[in-house]
Amino acid sequence: MNKTELTAAVNTRRTFAIISHPDAGKTTITEQMLLFGGVVRQAGTVKARKSGNFAKSDWMEIEKKRGISVTSSVMQFDYDGKRINILDTPGHEDFSEDTYRTLMAVDSAVMVIDSAKGIEPQTKKLFQICKMRGIPIFTFMNKLDRDGREPLDLLNEVEEVLGIETYPMNWPMGMGKGLKGLYDRYNHRVELYHNEAKGETFLPLDDNGELDPSNELTKDSIYRDTLDEVELINEAGNDFDEAKVMAGDMTPVFFGSALTNFGVETFLKTYLQYAPKPAAHKTRDDEVVEPTDDEFAGFVFKIQANMNPNHRDRIAFVRICSGEFDRGMDVVLQRTGKKMRLNNSTQFMADTRETVETAVAGDIVGLYDTGNFQIGDTIYAGKHAVQFEKLPQFTPELFMRVTAKNVMKQKSFHKGIEQLVQEGAVQLYTSYSTGDYILGAVGQLQFEVFKFRMQNEYNSEVVMEPMGSKTARWIDPDQLDEKMSSSRNLLVKDRSGAPLFLFENAFAERWFADKYPDVKLTSKL
Ligand code: GDP
Repeated sequence: MNKTELTAAVNTRRTFAIISHPDAGKTTITEQMLLFGGVVRQAGTVKARKSGNFAKSDWMEIEKKRGISVTSSVMQFDYDGKRINILDTPGHEDFSEDTYRTLMAVDSAVMVIDSAKGIEPQTKKLFQICKMRGIPIFTFMNKLDRDGREPLDLLNEVEEVLGIETYPMNWPMGMGKGLKGLYDRYNHRVELYHNEAKGETFLPLDDNGELDPSNELTKDSIYRDTLDEVELINEAGNDFDEAKVMAGDMTPVFFGSALTNFGVETFLKTYLQYAPKPAAHKTRDDEVVEPTDDEFAGFVFKIQANMNPNHRDRIAFVRICSGEFDRGMDVVLQRTGKKMRLNNSTQFMADTRETVETAVAGDIVGLYDTGNFQIGDTIYAGKHAVQFEKLPQFTPELFMRVTAKNVMKQKSFHKGIEQLVQEGAVQLYTSYSTGDYILGAVGQLQFEVFKFRMQNEYNSEVVMEPMGSKTARWIDPDQLDEKMSSSRNLLVKDRSGAPLFLFENAFAERWFADKYPDVKLTSKL
């Protein structure tokens, strides 16, 4: 590709993640989008892998059991002249640090909220990472076909709990059984609900923002109520501010129902008008790598282990930040300075794994890896060395004490732990008083993968003793007195030797703060 072609290709890319709490409708809306993109010919493909009957023969047991598949980690499709990459952020027990790290590889996020439930814990956690990155966040208020909470109430909650301004792009006309449609402020029209048999789905609004008086709907009290509410938000609500949206300080809100495919296409189309194209990335030397720079560079944000139990192979997911990726190209792994040829690459489609030939900034490629890559690694082509900024560390919430089952096999135990921790699979802590190994994770799956890989890759059977959820808080070593530690706030050190407490609960934390008012404790994120 020459510069013009590269620029044109990069400008079509839109790379985003859908964040939500389990059951809010992420899978359903993803499927609808894939259908618009013509990728899934039969609805239910994404669903099928979720329920586990999408089995492929040679995946690691945990993946099979949980129905996680690498093909669904990244979904690429074309729509409306754009090439879209959706990165999956797993929910439920699949939640892991990888979920957080995935958000480092996207340019924007879609937040799906169940309109009967509002903001739920997982959405809040994932939202905070997006907020930290300052990427645009678009909201889809789902399940409008059911009776949910008042729209104004939902917007208030988003503003208060998440600390972001809202701008409703459309407004529901009724909900549940009384759902009539959407008053589309942005497109200046009404979108009718369930209208297949009745002709036009979209009705234009006049200059006063009203439907033609001959329309039956204008006699419906729901329509009049909607007009009143829209007038209220026009007067009292925020003004649309594109700069704020781009900075992640205002979220455009769309209402709809993923299950009945209502409002989803309107959402996708409008979203794509604003969704940013691939962003520039900073290096540790404070240089800026533009997506249209000639030389290829990218970073590893996720490593998926053991696609094939007969080999130790895994897939390193690389977010391309600049240049053109070609299969078989030579790159340098920045951390080791080692040259490597990228022969074995995979691109991700919704229903197949295909070998990728070329890709550009915004795209994700999977590289088969035999243990070369670590999370956060930069790879680059060309003479100029590039090292992208460090990926943030996330504070674990779940902890396990871990020991080798067979005391005679300490060597493989230590080797396995060291490598898996380096790779970013779990966090490792050691107890100050006993030297015990304690593993930390944000999701249960990380422990299971750890255990499985210790056994399969390092021939080390481990015993894991759950310690439950704890709150990790780092302390300035100068302020530390080992006597501060108790059974309710265990003193440990992290991999870099920095001391921290694992608090049993919020009560223990408050107790500590009262007892040592001058001590400052910090969390990582
Ligand atoms: P995920 O866990 O966020 O991926 O959620 P799913 O997409 O699996 O949806 C969870 C449940 O909510 C499923 O039973 C869906 O059929 C249902 N669901 C999703 N969207 C809607 C919707 O718009 N309306 C209704 N009534 N149900 C929905």
